[in-house]
Formats: sequence, C-alpha cells, structure tokens
Amino acid sequence: MRILGIESSCDDTGIAIYDSERGILADALYSQLSHQKYGGVVPELASRDHIQKVIPLISAVLEAAQLKSEDIDGIAYTKGPGLAGALMVGATIAQGLGFAWKIPTIGVHHLEGHLLAPMLAEPAPSFPFLALLISGGHTQIISVRTLGDYEILGESLDDAVGEAFDKTAKLLGLPYPGGPHLEKLAQNGNAKKFQFPRPLLHREDLNFSFSGLKTHVANVIHKTELSDENKADIAAQFEETIADILCKKMHRALLQTGISRLVVAGGVSANLTLRKALSALAEKEECHIYFPPLKYCTDNGAMIAYAGAQRLMRDEKSDFSIQVRPRWPLSELKAPEKSA
Ligand code: AMP
Ligand code: MG
Repeated sequence: MRILGIESSCDDTGIAIYDSERGILADALYSQLSHQKYGGVVPELASRDHIQKVIPLISAVLEAAQLKSEDIDGIAYTKGPGLAGALMVGATIAQGLGFAWKIPTIGVHHLEGHLLAPMLAEPAPSFPFLALLISGGHTQIISVRTLGDYEILGESLDDAVGEAFDKTAKLLGLPYPGGPHLEKLAQNGNAKKFQFPRPLLHREDLNFSFSGLKTHVANVIHKTELSDENKADIAAQFEETIADILCKKMHRALLQTGISRLVVAGGVSANLTLRKALSALAEKEECHIYFPPLKYCTDNGAMIAYAGAQRLMRDEKSDFSIQVRPRWPLSELKAPEKSA
C-alpha cells in the first residue's frame, strides 16, 4: 500500500510517500521563513504559505519517487491538533485529491505521528513502550500499549520543553526557532559555571514545569555581562538542566511501569546532548531506547504517511467531509477495530 502524507499543522509543510513494503519512497519539507522576524508563528501567514507549497511539493515527491497519481492508494493528512487555518489547508487538499483520485483518506493525530516516527528507523520498537514526547507544544510521558491505545502518565504543567528552548534562545539573542541554535552554542560552553534550578524533581509524580527555568535564565542574563563565553556557558547549563529533569522523570516512569522499551520523539529529540543523557539512562537500566531518524524528529510528512498507513491498512478511513481538530486530546484516540 502506498500512502501520500500531508503535514500542515504549524509552520512546516511536509509531504511524503510511504510504501508499506519498502518504507519512505520520497519526502519533502518546506520550513516557513516568514515568521522569523516576528519571533514566533503567525497563524495567518502559516496558512498562506501552506496554500502556496502543498501542491508543488506533492508534485515534487511524486516525481522523486517516479510515481503517478494512479500509484497512490490512500492519503493521510494531519487533522489536529494545530493551527485551525493551517490544518484546513492540508485537510482540504487531501480530501479534494482523495475524492478526485477515488482513494480513501484518513485524518491523523499529529502526536500519533510523532510517537510512531521511531518506527521509520531500524531497528523499530515494538509495542508496548514508554514514550517521551518532547516538541514545541508538548512534553508528555506516555504509556503506548498498542496503536491508538495511549495513556498520558505525566506532562508539563506550563511550557513545553521546545518552548523553553525557544524562549531561552531568544533571551540569548538567537534566531527562531532557537532549539538547534542553542544546541550549537552550548557545544563550546562550560556547563558547570552556572547552576539552574530543577523544578518538580522532589515530587513523586511524572509532571514537569519549565516556566520557572526560563524566568531564572532571564534573571541570570539580567545580572551577567552577556559575553560570547557567558552565553555559551548559560546554554550548556540550560541543556544540562533539561537533560537532568527529563532523565530523572523517565527513570521514575521506567520504575513505576516496569516497561523496558523507551521511545523518544518530537522535535527536541533531535538534540544530541539529550539523546546522550537518555541513552546513558537506558543503558544503566538495561532498557532499549529508540529515536526517530534525525530528519523525522521535527514536523514532517513521513510520520503522517506512516501513521495514516497503519490505520488505512486496518480499514479505517474518513468520509470526504473536511474536518480539523485544532484541539484534540491524544487520550481520545482509539485503537482501530480491525487488526492489520
Ligand atoms: P516540533 O514541535 O515537534 O516540530 O519541534 C519543534 C521544536 O523542537 C522547536 O521548539 C525547536 O526549537 C525544537 N528543536 C528542534 N531541534 C532541536 C535541537 N537540536 N535541540 C533542541 N530543540 C530542538
Ligand atoms: Mg510537532
């Protein structure tokens, strides 16, 4: 089965073709630049950019995979959560093409896409596993029993990890989105010069809080001469603090659930310092750890094509009504009725 995937939930237009026998055949990504001067995503600009890019990118991936529209068996698009207007662009084009090509379509939950993205790497994790989802909008520890059966065990009470990276990067004068820039800056830093607080670590639960960390960094920056050296040292301590918090909570989650497979997904899972710290934890606890391929960590069409394929192969499909769910709790998802 060959599935075309369309991701348009935020500021990345991602298109890919997934083949259930051969894996990803082609993919393309356009990361919108129009938001940079505003320091955050402007919803109206996002929708306008998606409208311009979706069809040319579909045409480009078909060509790259040397396929024609007749070779596609189904279309998966991001139905939510995300920006309403941006989601509408992907949903409208997916339903229009599905209707015209007479093939089924499926609306995919964006976070299910992220959760399953590690399955695009070798070796792929099998169910059940414990997932740490760290993205621009989410920080969650999830027990993944099987496709569509997810239980959120803990989450951030305020900012998401990606948001904390982006806000701290902004304080350090780095461009948006700041996560990758902060990682680069931290490489030359001394992580021990500053010491930042680790909120909620004393609590037994699996929740996180990152907004106090950002305020702490703002205060440090206010009191410190912002030389290149100090900036790098602040970035390094920031990364170490995040790694510490995530590792402590994941350690607790592993002990509480007894699950021995760990999956890390979402844009922040591209961060190599975090990958190293979480891999060390997994080794110590004798767990297997899985990450998505680097290019499928942040938003992309491949994870949507893959997640949609899993559901389409189990005979799930949408009618051709154009529906999006800008707010859509992951816990509302259901396992498909039929097995593959
Ligand atoms: P997503 O919401 O899954 O598309 O992920 C986007 C978020 O991931 C943004 O907040 C980025 O700053 C963050 N991000 C991407 N790459 C890195 C990295 N290497 N280190 C830290 N954060 C990152
Ligand atoms: Mg995302």
